Amino acid sequence: MIEMHDVWKTYPNGVSALNGINVKIDRGEFVYVVGPSGAGKSTFIKLMYREVRLTKGRILVNGYNLERLKEHKIPLLRRQIGVVFQDFKLLPQLTAAENVAFAMEVIEAPTKKIRQRVNEVMELVGLGDRLNQLPNQLSGGEQQRVAVARAVVNNPAVIIADEPTGNLDPETSWEIMHVFKKINDQGTTIVMATHNKEIVNTMKRRVIAVEGGRIVRDERQGAYGYDD
Ligand code: ADP
Ligand code: ADP
Repeated sequence: MIEMHDVWKTYPNGVSALNGINVKIDRGEFVYVVGPSGAGKSTFIKLMYREVRLTKGRILVNGYNLERLKEHKIPLLRRQIGVVFQDFKLLPQLTAAENVAFAMEVIEAPTKKIRQRVNEVMELVGLGDRLNQLPNQLSGGEQQRVAVARAVVNNPAVIIADEPTGNLDPETSWEIMHVFKKINDQGTTIVMATHNKEIVNTMKRRVIAVEGGRIVRDERQGAYGYDD
């Protein structure tokens, strides 16, 4: 599903964020990416959906060679990757349902199919009764559920999440985690950067630890491994 071969990233200011990453993530895996602040987790994750371009190396995502990908093919790639952010990034003037529908409108899905699928994914995330609320009428946890619904609505092969529980209290974080688990149980690959020690230690999934731009640990049923 995702392969990185000797991937390096140096930002224009000279900061070397990743220094020779080699990794393979299979279809259906659930992977936590952990490590101290500044370790390179976000860069690692952003490379996967070509938000950041690599300096050297090769990345394959669902068969696409990201460096060779022509600009006009990027929407095709993005359709296969759902992204969830720490700060939700919902459009404030659109309702929950419209935020989710928007992701299907941009790929020009038929109106009838949009309505049906929006209802389906809003049920999946437990918000079947909140369709017409604006983001500011929803709690943080509910807003993140909307963001997760938006990420899965086009049936992506992989969900990439950067600190998705970073702004949520522990109980709400667990609720979001259960939504991700449900999505993973349906076969979607999930890659999640996180500082949530309790969740990582309880879930016992694959853990990739990044420090100083290198993978320093990669365990099948791993633990968080840091004190914070
Ligand atoms: P993490 O997510 O683990 O905190 P990041 O990938 O955000 O790590 O950052 C890795 C390193 O790259 C840090 O030193 C950070 O300051 C630097 N960095 C991240 N983004 C940029 C950028 N856009 N421009 C320059 N340096 C950056
Ligand atoms: P329209 O009036 O053309 O449907 P809206 O901006 O109100 O436009 O909504 C855009 C899309 O958002 C709709 O086509 C529909 O797919 C989705 N949507 C909005 N509200 C709901 C809802 N309550 N239930 C299901 N889907 C909805």
